Amino acid sequence: MLTLAIIKPDAIEAGNAGKILAHLEGQGFKIRAARLVRLTKAQAEEFYAVHRERPFFRPLVTFMGSGPALALALAREDAVAHLRQVIGATDPAEAKAGTVRKLYAQSRERNAIHASDSAETAAREVAFFFPELAP
Ligand code: GDP
Repeated sequence: MLTLAIIKPDAIEAGNAGKILAHLEGQGFKIRAARLVRLTKAQAEEFYAVHRERPFFRPLVTFMGSGPALALALAREDAVAHLRQVIGATDPAEAKAGTVRKLYAQSRERNAIHASDSAETAAREVAFFFPELAP
């Protein structure tokens, strides 16, 4: 089973991409595809379209396009649910000890990593970055 992760621009800028990748591999995830991307405004708007009406949508789109980000297709048993556990809560102040966001996130917005939140979302998000993996 595949899920989609994005190491966000804040984590790349802070030099934490390698440590986060090692953390994910240590949790049993295998990298099936990886791509360093610089999201355009249109791409970030499409990716986060579900949040279009939220007050944080515009700053989120700006942040996600503010620098390089690393998109990853990750494989593991129960990949979607397990990756959500490994990354922790959206707000690092609420994330459990040892989670990626507790270790590396700066704020509720600049929170180091994205992970798909359901099997349906994972299929859409993997295809968004890696159409070559589509069945
Ligand atoms: P996730 O599934 O844990 O990433 O959280 P959501 O799907 O709810 O939100 C998507 C992304 O929007 C988060 O990862 C944050 O980068 C950002 N975000 C969420 N909530 C807030 C908020 O209250 N304020 C700001 N500035 N950004 C937020």
